[in-house]
Amino acid sequence: MTEREGVARLTRVAPPTASSGLMPPPRRLRTSPPAPPRTPPAAPPSAGLTTPAGVAKLTPKPAAVEESARALRQVMGRFATGVTVVTTIHRDTIHGMTANAFLSVSLRPPLVLVSLGRCRMSEMLPRTGRYGVSVLAHDQEQFAAHFAAQRVSSVEPEFVWHEGLPLLDGALAHIACRVVDVHAAGDHVLWIGAVEHVHHQDGEPLLFYTGRFGTLGEVRDRAQHPER
Ligand SMILES: Cc1cc2nc3c(=O)[nH]c(=O)nc-3n(C[C@H](O)[C@H](O)[C@H](O)COP(=O)(O)OP(=O)(O)OC[C@H]3O[C@@H](n4cnc5c(N)ncnc54)[C@H](O)[C@@H]3O)c2cc1C
Repeated sequence: MTEREGVARLTRVAPPTASSGLMPPPRRLRTSPPAPPRTPPAAPPSAGLTTPAGVAKLTPKPAAVEESARALRQVMGRFATGVTVVTTIHRDTIHGMTANAFLSVSLRPPLVLVSLGRCRMSEMLPRTGRYGVSVLAHDQEQFAAHFAAQRVSSVEPEFVWHEGLPLLDGALAHIACRVVDVHAAGDHVLWIGAVEHVHHQDGEPLLFYTGRFGTLGEVRDRAQHPER
């Protein structure tokens, strides 16, 4: 693993080419969800049993599905996270998106994952086979909102590079990965990356808590005074 390399503005990017050796070799990744489980074997003839009260039905009504999704979202909102921007490049197009469903999977070998729903990034990763993760600093909220398509903004992100992979400049940490495994999981896909490069600097992180961005102090205040 090496230290980070030269800074380049987006507008001056010289994209890596297949012949430069910087782009990954084409990979065949399984990106479509695996075949649904086979229909379970027919239940034995009923002996007059009924579903006990309180046991979830296998096919909940849509309203119940929405209610449980809302409840889970609210609960998970209490799981304060950092904020990352995931990046990749295909031909000469750099693409970034905000993600907080990011975690370390293994140290030996070093693996991380990012969980992506239906998004443009998910369409690009099968072609690029690599992604970068930039852990945002407390003063990078504008990038978090921008790369989540939340705000029309005139931010001009600058990127640093590791072997042809763009990473957001000014972030607290950079991780460059090669996709080695893909798992469909419900309405998301888990993109497991073998870590090829890391870099970090000290500083205060940007956090995401109860659906809002904040610094450590702001999140502490919000947790203590949720009415604010
Ligand atoms: C805190 C937070 C955490 C999130 N976590 C996740 C998560 O873990 N998983 C998940 O699936 N979704 C997550 N999202 C939602 C996700 O960020 C959005 O759905 C996002 O819009 C998906 O991006 P996309 O790949 O579809 O690209 P788009 O929506 O097309 O692009 C995202 C935005 O980035 C801009 N952009 C992209 N590349 C560049 C570039 N090179 N230069 C300048 N601007 C550029 C685009 O103009 C657009 O505004 C999260 C959102 C937030 C706010």
